[in-house]
Amino acid sequence: MTNIPFVDLSLQHEPLLDEIKQSLLDVVARGDFILGQDVRDFEQQFAQLTGVQYGIGVGSGTDAIALGLQACGLGPGDEVLIPANTFIATVIGALHSGVTPILVDCDPKTALIDLEAAQQAITPKTKAILPVHLYGQMVPPQALLDFAQAHHLTIFEDAAQAHLAHREGYTAGAVGKAAAYSFYPSKNLGAFGNGGIVLTDSEDIAHKIRCYRNYGAAQKYVHTELGTNSRLDTLQAAVLKVKLPHLQDWNLSRNQAAAQYDKALNPLADSGITPLENQSGTGHIYHLYIVRIEPSCPLNRDEIQAQLSDRGISTGIHYPIPCHLQPAYHHLGYQEGDFPQAEALCREILSLPMYPGLSEAQVTRVVDTLKEILADAQSLRA
Ligand SMILES: *Cc1c(COP(=O)(O)O)cnc(C)c1O
Repeated sequence: MTNIPFVDLSLQHEPLLDEIKQSLLDVVARGDFILGQDVRDFEQQFAQLTGVQYGIGVGSGTDAIALGLQACGLGPGDEVLIPANTFIATVIGALHSGVTPILVDCDPKTALIDLEAAQQAITPKTKAILPVHLYGQMVPPQALLDFAQAHHLTIFEDAAQAHLAHREGYTAGAVGKAAAYSFYPSKNLGAFGNGGIVLTDSEDIAHKIRCYRNYGAAQKYVHTELGTNSRLDTLQAAVLKVKLPHLQDWNLSRNQAAAQYDKALNPLADSGITPLENQSGTGHIYHLYIVRIEPSCPLNRDEIQAQLSDRGISTGIHYPIPCHLQPAYHHLGYQEGDFPQAEALCREILSLPMYPGLSEAQVTRVVDTLKEILADAQSLRA
């Protein structure tokens, strides 16, 4: 039997290779490598798909967070609420903008930020909330908007794992004052390298980010802002613009594979293997498909992962250490026990193979293999 990889990007790229090659050669022919035509076209197309007015392409998702927060007027002295269980780049982006990250625990069923816990963390310095639409599912938009309004907070969305996810009629990136997306290669829409975008309906924020990303210059050699060098490369935009029309089909393919996993895994709930909850139907775009291996399971997460690997199935852990326990962020002042839900998730989560084009037969084999592993463990115990 052939192995099942954790992700397989070649399935997306092979049918598009000729088109991508031509798109790249067109950039070379034009020579507009920096902020070229394809950057403008892609920014506009991506913004349009999300229903937001402005898209500003930057060098990475991390920079999209840093420059986006800065353009929203947030910086040193401002506290920003951030989930403790996110990819570390959320925290890095926030720190680069100068704000103080205030970490918050999550809902154990979805792994999304817990707004009640967020409320407990508010101080007079709290200026914003940075919800992460983790694994491809949006933080409930209406609850988020009500929360932000009640506490006079700016919403800045981290949509790096939620390309065109939707919930309650909102699209990821269209809820807050501004939002960050990443085009890291393995995201639902990935470049052939780094890339990111800030989305906003505010002309002022859009203008500031266009300055920041380009040495702080509103016009050549006139530096009105303290800027940096962080632009979406034209070559990356040339790749992204070819892939963009397929994003919705790819998301649907992931969602269908996830629905099959959910159904097939149902009988394993008694054995302590439970998927995170999908509360948004087809609006969940499954950047990752996560199950929890709970303490009631006869095998722990690491044992299950090792045995799946022995049987040719690759999995991942996103992420094994919560942000507050990462060695480099000790100075934020947190310790073990501060965020029990996030800490339990880190011990229990396992990401099963998930990518557009993952077949029904492959999903079946992953689940059947899990059943075999559990049956073996139970018969050894008997
Ligand atoms: C990938 C990711 C980022 C950062 O994106 P880069 O383009 O790699 O800088 C930020 N936040 C989350 C949640 C991510 O998954």
